[in-house]
Amino acid sequence: MKKERLVHIAIPGTGGRTFTYRLPEPLAGNLQPGQRCRVPFGRRRLIGFYVGPAASPPSARLKEIDQPVEPVSLFGDELYRFLQWMAEYYLAGLGDVLTAAIPPWLRRAGQPSFIVTERFPSVAARMNLPDKIAPPRPPGTVLDHRQLTTLATLSNGLVDRLVQEGALSLDWIGSAPPPRGQLRGYHLNQKNTPDQWQRIILDKFENPAGPLTKSCLKAAGLTEYRIRKMIAEGSLVAEYGLPESIAYIKPRPGVDSIVPSNQQQAAIETILGERDNFAPFLLYGITGSGKTLVYCHITREIYRQGKSVLVLVPEIALAGTLLSYFQSFFGDRVALLHSALSPRERAAVWQNIASGRYRIVIGARSAIFAPLRDPGLIIVDEEHDESYKQDDPAPRFQARDAAVMRAKMAGIPVVLGSATPAVESFHNARSGRYRLLKLTRRPERSATPVVRLIDLRDEWPVAGIPFLTATLRRKIDDALGHDRQVILYLNRRGFSPRIKCTSCGHTPQCPHCRISLTYHRSGNKLMCHFCGYVNAAYDTCEKCQGEKFVYLGTGTQKIEEHLTGAFGGAHLVRLDSDSAGRRTNASKILSEFAAGQYNILLGTQMVTKGIDFPRVTLVGVLMADIGLDMPDFRASEKLFAKLIQVAGRSGRGIEPGEVVIQTFHPRLDLIDDAARQDYDTFYEREIESRRALGYPPFAHLVNFRLSAKKEESVKDQSLHFRRQLEKRLARTDLRVQLLGPAPCPLYRLRGLFRRHLFARTRAIRKLTTLLHHWQTDQPDFGLPSSIRLAIDIDPYDMM
Ligand code: ADP
Ligand code: ZN
Repeated sequence: MKKERLVHIAIPGTGGRTFTYRLPEPLAGNLQPGQRCRVPFGRRRLIGFYVGPAASPPSARLKEIDQPVEPVSLFGDELYRFLQWMAEYYLAGLGDVLTAAIPPWLRRAGQPSFIVTERFPSVAARMNLPDKIAPPRPPGTVLDHRQLTTLATLSNGLVDRLVQEGALSLDWIGSAPPPRGQLRGYHLNQKNTPDQWQRIILDKFENPAGPLTKSCLKAAGLTEYRIRKMIAEGSLVAEYGLPESIAYIKPRPGVDSIVPSNQQQAAIETILGERDNFAPFLLYGITGSGKTLVYCHITREIYRQGKSVLVLVPEIALAGTLLSYFQSFFGDRVALLHSALSPRERAAVWQNIASGRYRIVIGARSAIFAPLRDPGLIIVDEEHDESYKQDDPAPRFQARDAAVMRAKMAGIPVVLGSATPAVESFHNARSGRYRLLKLTRRPERSATPVVRLIDLRDEWPVAGIPFLTATLRRKIDDALGHDRQVILYLNRRGFSPRIKCTSCGHTPQCPHCRISLTYHRSGNKLMCHFCGYVNAAYDTCEKCQGEKFVYLGTGTQKIEEHLTGAFGGAHLVRLDSDSAGRRTNASKILSEFAAGQYNILLGTQMVTKGIDFPRVTLVGVLMADIGLDMPDFRASEKLFAKLIQVAGRSGRGIEPGEVVIQTFHPRLDLIDDAARQDYDTFYEREIESRRALGYPPFAHLVNFRLSAKKEESVKDQSLHFRRQLEKRLARTDLRVQLLGPAPCPLYRLRGLFRRHLFARTRAIRKLTTLLHHWQTDQPDFGLPSSIRLAIDIDPYDMM
């Protein structure tokens, strides 16, 4: 049998193609899918990924692979197949997807060390390794280069098998800083018979399960060196707390002994009944119905079986309730993939997930790439949330949809939870593709809040205070008087979003994006909220030199000032992406609000997310209509979800909650449904309109967005692109409708002119295959290099 000599290599940044290389003899038959290799590429040396053997006849010009970066693939089989699917479905380069799945710190780092584990002797014995290769080595020994080479030459793939069997563990991080935030202390690893030093600790401390502080250990006679050595040998374990940015998240003692309600118990049992199969569930539970408890119970069972559980949340900093539940149930067995981790910490967490040390992983959308050991369950909390969609850069994926696919490929259950399911998800539940589980009640005493609509046309705000009607003011006074907390929601940020010159009527616009600039009082500056352009100190009109302006519209910052005046004694805090700045501040603001340091929390959509503050009894939506006129077929769905979600923050404790929604359109169906907290009626109407207009879930959309510096060129090339696409479609029996090209609503962004066209089809896989073939013959789709083309499958961003 002839050994494979030519191979396909995927290289990041080169689109959907792979490249053919020769394989040097010693590597033949020895590479695994996804394994990183250094390859010559043009005049550079790049890191590519082994994809598989290539069939094309050898050509003299083919270059040889240099060498693998490490002797194993970073991806297990399960993860590799999933990433391959993602590259195909979302029409992204396999090299780019595989790179996205590796923590940035490992992308450039080279060789890992191989460390002997306590399983080495038994595995070596089972494999009959000669003694000179596998003399008994204490766990923790790092194999040197010579030992590795000996192992590698002994038999093909031996090193990899030792890793798979758990006899060797890989370490890219070396003496990395703690994987998770602050050092809390140490505890003994009491699996083995205690050694001399462990015995000292056992003698001195009543509770060696810890955490024992470093000073205690030192007082007991252990030196700094000894502590490090014990950790390296595995007899002492360092414990770390949450990163500081989310340190406000405290375990909620006792939640692990809450008895699930009948509805919760039924959901738990149904899901666990399918634990060994692919089974997608939609857990549709009203706000405050206790979805989190369900997640924890099913996680505990799957974990006990020795499998891994992945929990996706829209944003870690806003997932406080969920995190505190998981902390109470599982303590530091939970790995958090948080954006405040340093690249090195992230790599360390990743490595510990890959080794199976962490089997419960919580993270935002990119956690879908977690290298889970033996996955057993995936949970997607708040599955309707838009932040699961990655718009840019490629891969442009939907993490919730991808989670369902990963579960399908792994043959495990996946649970999507929401009080306002995405229309697509609810449709899947209705049509039987997902199993629907309902939680229709809030447990115990707390009832769903009473909602009241205020027509802004009848009741105009109290003089001089935007959006504060007399009714709302009275209710706020009342809540504050009873020492309760209030959340006020406005779907817009900035101070006086637009300004207008009173003499000439000019409204300043961003020179790059042609959208109105937002006025920010702090710093007296104008800012473009799309590209970040700042025009500092705007005090004279650029057109007529006038010095007087009117402020149109009102943002959270302006309201903050007015309200602080109106409720003199109250402490108010604003939470929006300006005040939050770095995400760490969002957590800080929420924790202080939770601790009762503030009476009123005012903010944008950040206040609508899954927070659970029992003392909040009043939620005010200052103006519900904002956002309805967005050029986006999901505009109603997004607005409806936000109204329900923010209303759901009210009355979670013992006191009943109230919600006030102020609107100019009280008779609008969507507002009316939101006021009645009636998702089902909203869904029925929305799904009919989607059906009538041929929007998802009745068809898939693909957005082709072209952009360039030259306006004319984008116009010509987008027409040209459409004609080319039509020609290729005409040769198939694919039914695809093309819309556009048209200027994007944000026509000019970051100095580029933008046009898009949409394809609408039911046969999305066939369309992506066609596009893939097109890209194989013409990597740039026949477009000049001055044009940037972004292809977005199942797009969310229509702007
Ligand atoms: P959801 O995520 O569905 O909006 P949560 O999981 O935040 O709801 O739960 C809402 C509140 O109800 C929490 O404070 C939680 O502790 C409480 N809770 C959940 N399940 C039960 C139960 N079975 N008995 C009593 N209280 C519960
Ligand atoms: Zn701009």
